[in-house]
Amino acid sequence: MIKENIEKVRQRVSAACARINTDPAGIKLLCVTKGRSAEEIKEVIGLGLEYLGENRVQEAAQKFTLFPRAHWEMVGHLQSNKVKEALKIFELIHSVDSVSLAQEIDRQAARINKVQEILLEVKTSPEPSKTGFAPEELAAGVEQIFKFKQLKVKGLMTIAPAADQPEEARPYFSRLRQLRDKLDPAWIISMGMSDDFEVAIEEGADILRLGRVIFEP
Ligand SMILES: *Cc1c(COP(=O)(O)O)cnc(C)c1O
Repeated sequence: MIKENIEKVRQRVSAACARINTDPAGIKLLCVTKGRSAEEIKEVIGLGLEYLGENRVQEAAQKFTLFPRAHWEMVGHLQSNKVKEALKIFELIHSVDSVSLAQEIDRQAARINKVQEILLEVKTSPEPSKTGFAPEELAAGVEQIFKFKQLKVKGLMTIAPAADQPEEARPYFSRLRQLRDKLDPAWIISMGMSDDFEVAIEEGADILRLGRVIFEP
């Protein structure tokens, strides 16, 4: 089933790329493995998905010991007291949602001589449950984060609010892209999940974060 799911996802990615005349090879599929078993992870790695996403440090740490050669990325909210452990595991942290978290990552990264790649999470929708930089405070946040020598800002990330139709995500994705274009056109954007990844591609996503569409029937 996972094999067929991945084939279908790849076809849908290609079709969406064709609509906007872009090369599907430029889009990274991050397979979100939270809650999935070692068996399932082994299977997706065998099927060529080498970038894996987790949203909890504890769970990721266990999986990292099983699959240390995969490329692990953090997509969930990161607590300051988990930063030290997270730095041992993740190549990219998608979910840097405050200057104080960035500062703690910088501090811990300095201790192990690591330059940590990060994305800044932007709260493109007003839902109170979401974390991230408000669009209007992003530029000021970026300016402060640029002072942290152990961090390399690679781009922006957002999560669209839950919706009945994929189309409803479009304004949030479009907003993230506009912010990126304004701040640094060379930055990448992480957006699009199982329910809305085709719209995300049309709005310029570089990384799709996919879970259910890969693992579930
Ligand atoms: C779980 C999760 C995903 C994947 O969600 P699906 O709807 O299963 O594709 C993507 N991003 C984040 C931040 C997640 O927590």
